Amino acid sequence: MKGTVLLSGGIDSAVTLKKAKDQIKDVNAIHFSYGQQTEEIEKRNSMKLAEQYDVHLEVVSLEDIFNNFKSGTMLDKNYDSNKTTDKHGQSVGYVHMRNLYFLTTAAAIMDQKTRDEEINLYIGAQKNDKEHYPDCRPKFLKNAQKAINQSTQKNQFKIKAPLIDKTKKQILKTAKNLEIPLKNTISCYNPIDNKPCGECPACKKRKQAIKEITK
Ligand SMILES: [Zn+2]
Repeated sequence: MKGTVLLSGGIDSAVTLKKAKDQIKDVNAIHFSYGQQTEEIEKRNSMKLAEQYDVHLEVVSLEDIFNNFKSGTMLDKNYDSNKTTDKHGQSVGYVHMRNLYFLTTAAAIMDQKTRDEEINLYIGAQKNDKEHYPDCRPKFLKNAQKAINQSTQKNQFKIKAPLIDKTKKQILKTAKNLEIPLKNTISCYNPIDNKPCGECPACKKRKQAIKEITK
């Protein structure tokens, strides 16, 4: 049994990594760069987390592919921080087919390396993602797993989303209990000098959740 964790360096993926490590012994992590504005922070956080949990981290660039369909905060570096959705009601954080690329790429990398293995692919999808991110919904994850398994004759893949029923608030609480250093899990759409802006939807949500758990 092996496990691969999709590690963005945000709080959700950090807690997911810890949970994967608690479940199985042979865990590695993969971080994707795809032209996101926060890549520098994300990569740094991912490296710190991988070091902390003693897992091998692979950094894979999908930037050439994602460059073909940039949208939201990937395109608009100075968007209005009060506007969390575009004129079609789509979240500014949405990236086309992101998790489908991530999961199939992670699966392909593992599939090439091993044979006759059970492989868990861990993803930090959580309850609040559902509304704006179709590729975080249970139905998508179930069907992605099916497609991946029907694409290989070598290994057996399972997609694991241990936080799928948890809200941001619950995840922050768990992170606190598991002693995950929050400073290594910054998520922000619009960092200024590699520091969180404090204004974007991700920063606002996080601030609110931290306020609530420390109440
Ligand atoms: Zn921000």
